[in-house]
Amino acid sequence: PYENIQKIKNDNIVPCIQQYYKKPLLLHEGKMQWLFDFEGKRYLDMFGGIVTVSVGHCHPKINKAIHKQVDTLWHSTNIYQHPNLYKYVEELTSTLPSHLKAVYLVNSGSEANDLALFLARLYTGNFEIISFRNAYHGMSPYLMGTTALSTWRFNVPVSFGVHHAMVPDVFKGLWGGKYCRDSVVQTTRQCECSTFRCQATENYYKQLEEVFMYSIPRGHVAGLIAESIQGVGGIVHFPKGYLQKAYELVRTNGGVCIADEVQTGFGRTGDHFWGFQMHGVKPDIVTMAKGIGNGFPLGAVVTTPEIAEVLKHSSHFNTFGGNPLACSVGLKVLEVLKEEDLQYNSKKVGTYLLNELAKLRDKFECVGDVRGKGLMIGVELVKNKKTNEPLNATDFVRIWDDCKDMGVLIGRGGINGNVLRLAPPMCVTLADAEFAVHVLHKSLLNFYNRS
Ligand code: PMP
Repeated sequence: PYENIQKIKNDNIVPCIQQYYKKPLLLHEGKMQWLFDFEGKRYLDMFGGIVTVSVGHCHPKINKAIHKQVDTLWHSTNIYQHPNLYKYVEELTSTLPSHLKAVYLVNSGSEANDLALFLARLYTGNFEIISFRNAYHGMSPYLMGTTALSTWRFNVPVSFGVHHAMVPDVFKGLWGGKYCRDSVVQTTRQCECSTFRCQATENYYKQLEEVFMYSIPRGHVAGLIAESIQGVGGIVHFPKGYLQKAYELVRTNGGVCIADEVQTGFGRTGDHFWGFQMHGVKPDIVTMAKGIGNGFPLGAVVTTPEIAEVLKHSSHFNTFGGNPLACSVGLKVLEVLKEEDLQYNSKKVGTYLLNELAKLRDKFECVGDVRGKGLMIGVELVKNKKTNEPLNATDFVRIWDDCKDMGVLIGRGGINGNVLRLAPPMCVTLADAEFAVHVLHKSLLNFYNRS
């Protein structure tokens, strides 16, 4: 359709946008878990537009709600009132623990996390923020410091006052190369050493204590921000009990705890509607985006009335936040998630995927690890299982590109870019999952046959 796309891209688009695949994919249409290019070729979308399409591309019920609202009123700004906003915040808060009542609607994950940090600092009167290595929380200058992956850094100073705690990396481990398998997510590896189980939480916790000891004025932390499972970082998750202890330490030192649910929210992890629930913690502030709007720009911060009170003293404004169109989408997404029991489907299809992918891990030397929960799954590709060194980029891209050519789109993540990420729309079926595994299997066979 656009002969000169490459030229426009080179001439008129800033050169930082990552392009997936050697031959870039030009998309035409989306239907639920399927995407179509201009030649009519169909792809199973196993990445959901970066963990964003929650209920399905162009879901008919969502589209109907949008069309209805488009013909009535798009925009009003929050200086006027519109019933959608009130209906929506009522529905949204009903999914959260009862202490989280106060909602501020925005348009993206970065905006939500910006406000969360701002609230933490304002409420506590403190400045220092702790985030985890390997985390992704957003791209605004206020957040770049919390996004602790060098791949997302430029050579300019980022926000002050951010300290990085070690990420409890279940796969690589940090103490003697041992893994903690006593994890909150399904991990299909055998437990090597039962005594190490509790050590992982303890060791990582000691390291967090050191962050306090060496970097933070005593008793003056503003907050901790954490994803319930790190997404962009390559599906990395915390050992059991770790986050509970971390929350306690932060609170003892005067801070609040922020759960970034941008990827893990809305039932994607299967067992719970919110990712933080798998850790048994009660955050003070929860941020959300992506799946909340099924691809429509919508995000939210939800906090306690006490914390929200700090915004009383001045104006804090967002032109598009909570517009009638976004709220009509948000409402319908919640309805569809419930009606179609998509959280349960995430658990069912996710468990199937984890088990089947584990068979590939047992079969192929380059599949180092398979981990995740529900429909948030990582497959870490390595040179060999002895060293677990990341597979080099050329080989990774061969496997990944091959999957695309065979009709399956998979994401990519991790500090070394060697983790395949699977996070399809939550309407994906067992038959689709079987097809995805079959294609990955074939591309791994092709990889070894060609090498
Ligand atoms: N938090 C997490 C966990 C994310 O994965 C992302 C986006 N990848 C963000 C925040 C930022 O969201 P946005 O791109 O909508 O600003």
